[in-house]
Amino acid sequence: MFCSDMTFDATINPVAYEGGEAVFIDTEYDTWNMDPVALEKAFELYPDVRLVVMAHLYGTPGKIRELQDVCSRHNALLVEDAAESFGATYRGIQTGMFGTESIISFNGNKIVTGSSGGMLLTDSEEDAHKARKWSTQSRENAPWYQHEELGFNYRMSNIVAGVIRGQLPYLEEHRLQKKAIYERYREGLKDLPVRMNPYDAEASEPNFWLSCLLIDRDAMCRQVRGEQDALYIPEHGKSCPTEILEAIASIHAEGRPIWKPMHMQPIYRMHPFVTANGSGRARSNAYIDEGRCPDVGADIFERGLCLPSDNKMTPDQQDRIIEVIHRCFA
Ligand SMILES: *Cc1c(COP(=O)(O)O)cnc(C)c1O
Repeated sequence: MFCSDMTFDATINPVAYEGGEAVFIDTEYDTWNMDPVALEKAFELYPDVRLVVMAHLYGTPGKIRELQDVCSRHNALLVEDAAESFGATYRGIQTGMFGTESIISFNGNKIVTGSSGGMLLTDSEEDAHKARKWSTQSRENAPWYQHEELGFNYRMSNIVAGVIRGQLPYLEEHRLQKKAIYERYREGLKDLPVRMNPYDAEASEPNFWLSCLLIDRDAMCRQVRGEQDALYIPEHGKSCPTEILEAIASIHAEGRPIWKPMHMQPIYRMHPFVTANGSGRARSNAYIDEGRCPDVGADIFERGLCLPSDNKMTPDQQDRIIEVIHRCFA
C-alpha cells in the first residue's frame, strides 16, 4: 500500500495489522501532505499496488483532486485519514468525503473529542455493516452467539458517543477559534524568518487543528537530532525547533516537533520510500548536515514545529508565546 510518509504512526499501523507492506510517499510543500507527483512515481515503480492511504495533516486538506486522479488512472482505491481534519473542506466538501473509506478521530486532542473513539465513513452500506459486525466481536445474525469469522472489540461506548454528539454542534465554533489562533500567530510572527503551515486558500478551508511554523533555511541555527534527543548551538538572529520548543516549555506551555516522517522511523527503516524525483530511500541526516535535503518530509521535520493551539487559549497566553519565540531569534 502507498501511505503518507509524514503523519502519525496510527495512519500506518492498520496496514501492518492486515499483513500489508507500506510504501511511503513523500510530502509536498504546498499543504504538507502526500505529493501527487511522488505518488505517480510510486505507481511506475510498483504498478501492482491498488490501495493508497493519505492523511490530511494538521487539519489542512491535501491535494485531494490530484491524488484522486492518480488513483483512478491506476485503478487504485483511496483511503482518507481525516483524523485531524474533521470540519475542514476542499472546494466546499468536507475531508472524509473523498476516499472510498475514510476515518475521523475523536481522540482527546482532536477538534471534537469524546476522549477517545472515532468514525468510519463510507458510502457502501455493505462495508458499513461489515465494519459494525467486525468491531463488535463478529456476531452473526442468530438467536445465540454465533461466530463464523474473527471479531474485534473496536466498539465505541455509549457514554463516549454521547459526549461526541454533544460536541458536534460546536464543530464550526471550534474551527473558527482555531482559525483565529492561527491568524494571531501569523500576524504576531510576521517579522520573523518563519512561515505558518501553508494551505491552498483558493481550494480549501482547513480546520486549523494545529498552528505550525517552518523556519527559513538560512535562519536555522545548527541542530542535531539523534534517535531520542536533540542538541543545538544558539546563534544570534537564528533559531531551531529544539530551541523554540524549550523556550515554550520554559513558560509551561507545550509545543511539539512535526510528525517525524515514517521513512525515518526505526520500525520502518527497511520499507521503500518514494520522492517526487522518483528516487528510493536515502538516509536523510547526512544530507541535512550538508544543508541539502533529499526529501521534503525530512526537511519539514528538521525546520518545523507545532505551536500551542488549544482553542481555549487566551490572547494574552498566545502573546506570551509569540514573545518567547521572538526572543529565540534575538
Ligand atoms: C489522532 C490520529 C489518528 C488516530 O486516531 P485515534 O482515534 O487515536 O485512533 C490517526 N491518524 C492521524 C493522522 C491522527 O492524528
